[in-house]
Amino acid sequence: MIPVLEFFANLPKKKCRQCKSDMQEQADCYINICSTCDHPAR
Ligand SMILES: [Zn+2]
Repeated sequence: MIPVLEFFANLPKKKCRQCKSDMQEQADCYINICSTCDHPAR
């Protein structure tokens, strides 16, 4: 069982998994999709 904080510590930088652009701070840490790409998905 991997702690969440450790998981994110291993991530170099958050990027949107769709548009590959760098993401700023986002509340939904475990969702690596920017608000732009996430919007049409909902
Ligand atoms: Zn995106």
